Amino acid sequence: MEFNLSGFPAAEAQQKKVESVRLLVLGSGPAGLSAALYAARAELTPLVLTGVEIGGQAGLTFIIENYPGFPEGVGGYQLGELFQKQAEKFGARVEFETASAVDLSRRPFKISTYGADYLADSLVIATGASSNHLGIPGEKELTGHGVSYCATCDGYFFKEKRVVVVGGGDSALEEGLFLTRYASSVTIVHRRDSLRAGAILQKRAHDNPKVNFVWNSVLTAIVGDHLVEGVKLKNVVSGEESLLPTDGVFIFIGHTPNTELFKGQLEMDERGYIKTDMLMQTSVPGVYAAGEVADPNFRQVVTSAGMGAAAAMQAIKYLEKEEVQSPGVA
Ligand code: NAP
Repeated sequence: MEFNLSGFPAAEAQQKKVESVRLLVLGSGPAGLSAALYAARAELTPLVLTGVEIGGQAGLTFIIENYPGFPEGVGGYQLGELFQKQAEKFGARVEFETASAVDLSRRPFKISTYGADYLADSLVIATGASSNHLGIPGEKELTGHGVSYCATCDGYFFKEKRVVVVGGGDSALEEGLFLTRYASSVTIVHRRDSLRAGAILQKRAHDNPKVNFVWNSVLTAIVGDHLVEGVKLKNVVSGEESLLPTDGVFIFIGHTPNTELFKGQLEMDERGYIKTDMLMQTSVPGVYAAGEVADPNFRQVVTSAGMGAAAAMQAIKYLEKEEVQSPGVA
């Protein structure tokens, strides 16, 4: 029997609704919703499938201070709502659906969800990236019981508690600083003796009396019976091992692009990011990729939004060219 990625027999899929669209956007973060805005203004009535993380990773950010136009900063979730409202105002349709399979081998491209098969003349992939895990004992077992990958989502549960933050990048410091609102202490454990994070965040972290650092150290296990009670640490220079009592562990060690659906269909780099040219074009004509799914370098809300707009502009040109070459096909 044939199965699709969602695990449903292919026979059931035959009962699904089938709908044709000019442009389909996968993902509802800054890249996806910006692509939808531009495509909507070109009167393509784009369809956005949100995926499970509506608003993408930006939507989980408490406050975004570096998106131009908001000198006082803007809530990540609030910014996502504004993006969506603006795209919808011009005719974009946003559906709370997740693609379970895609077929990019012929046009129209087929994008399958649990309830529908969409046939799209062009596609913008903006599926973003997901948090990396440490892969150590206790991490999986205690996720949701003291282990978290989102301070904005879970920080509130750590009022007057001790937390450990893992990582030395912007995310670790930004989220660690956010946690100082609730936690009694925030211990940042970093595998080296210097941080990757930008200067402003470093200064804020060093100046905050609740933040302290454990350098040159990695977690080897997270321990606790039902709830996190501590972390096992290893100093990578001296080899010394220790146990640090804590109530929570927040892990911010980078991301992996969400490209599983496209493996074998689109060219990717060795880390799984979708390869695009300067014009956001992937290895399949008519398929564009934007935002963190195709960007291991910048990964900012503003750059993702810009990539989304550029991808849509190229998709619009692609569809227009096709109409000129084969009038009446669309
Ligand atoms: P990142 O910059 O890749 O940093 C990941 C951190 O985790 C690094 O310090 C890395 O250590 C550490 N790490 C990686 N794997 C590890 C492991 N297995 N065990 C222990 N530590 C590990 O990721 P990010 O902080 O999520 O930032 C991603 C991008 O988003 C960056 O471009 C960043 O500038 C951007 N961002 C910006 C802002 C902002 O502008 N406010 C906020 C958040 C994110 P090493 O340093 O030793 O490699």
